[in-house]
Amino acid sequence: MLRSSTKSPDLERQLLRRSVMALAAGRDRCDGCHRTPLIGERVHVYDGGRTLCELCRRERREQPVSSQLVHGGEHGNTVRITDQRPLRRPRAA
Ligand SMILES: [Zn+2]
Repeated sequence: MLRSSTKSPDLERQLLRRSVMALAAGRDRCDGCHRTPLIGERVHVYDGGRTLCELCRRERREQPVSSQLVHGGEHGNTVRITDQRPLRRPRAA
């Protein structure tokens, strides 16, 4: 539970609601069950742009136009550090 030190709990509630709505706006939702697919789950896009999760896809016989993996919010924002130093040869004894 949030502990409020402000004198205006309505303002706090409005800010919380606004931030939750902003988070939900960028997410994909299944058009069948209205669930937000989990990270790592595969979603399927059909003609007309209808998106279905893996569970709802089983109820349809037609093949999806495309399928994609659900990525986390950090996808594309991470940096992989690779060792680009030249290989060291072992010294001859
Ligand atoms: Zn679904």
